[in-house]
Amino acid sequence: MTPSKSKTKEPQPIEIPQDQTASAEENNQAVESNQVKEPSTEEKPEISIEKKLIALYQLQQIDTQIDKIRIIRGELPLEVQDLEDEIIGLTHRVENFQEEVALQEKQIREKEIQVKESESLISKYKEQQNNVRNNREYDYLSKEIEFQDLEKQLAEKRIKEFKSTLDSKKDAITAAQEVLAEKQADVDVKKAELKDIVEETEKEEQSLVRKSDDNQRFIEDRLLTAYKRIRKNARNGLAVVMVERGACGGCFNKIPPQHQLEISMHKKIIVCEYCGRILVDEGIVKVVNA
Ligand SMILES: [Zn+2]
Repeated sequence: MTPSKSKTKEPQPIEIPQDQTASAEENNQAVESNQVKEPSTEEKPEISIEKKLIALYQLQQIDTQIDKIRIIRGELPLEVQDLEDEIIGLTHRVENFQEEVALQEKQIREKEIQVKESESLISKYKEQQNNVRNNREYDYLSKEIEFQDLEKQLAEKRIKEFKSTLDSKKDAITAAQEVLAEKQADVDVKKAELKDIVEETEKEEQSLVRKSDDNQRFIEDRLLTAYKRIRKNARNGLAVVMVERGACGGCFNKIPPQHQLEISMHKKIIVCEYCGRILVDEGIVKVVNA
């Protein structure tokens, strides 16, 4: 992540056209300065650079706030989407279980019919045994009764098995429905939260975007383009960073003492030689945070 394409050891001052400084000076109401404003149109370039640095740092602060709002708003819809996907999955699972339950119930009914049929055949054969003409007929009916009795037992065994499966399926449905209810409650809460956050942050965001636009007017196009390019390339969206304990606040690489001195003089716009971010010192930060 090094937006700076140059490999030179020297920092890269961004040149500021002289003709642009006057308007920046006049318009930059948000910028505080201890300097006495001179009535002449001849502005001192060094004051102008300082004000640009202040405007840049202020712009960075505003844009960072906008980024934070957008991140919060971006994550919640994903959470809602995940929950909704889970709900769809659980609903399908419950539906599948219900289909299986219906199938088991149908099979149980079929087996119950089979039991009844076997029972009625058994009683029919027993009835017939009372009217047989010989032993052979009697034995034949006995075998039939025995067979139907086995058929009936087998059907009853199956019914028992189906009922046991049915019970576990019904338990699974109950469990899935409980989870489903929880998830549904979760998604309802998250959706309400999202709605609140969107409403809350939209106003805040709009006012910040306006502030950002206002600040941008004080920075000439070339510098603004550089700022936007650095911001886009930086993972954390930081294009303007403070020098902290002699290191770049963006990439934490050490800044040579002579560059630190230049940064503290506010006479040039200095970028980090490693990451290309615009560097400001504590003095600029204090003015912005005041
Ligand atoms: Zn850096």
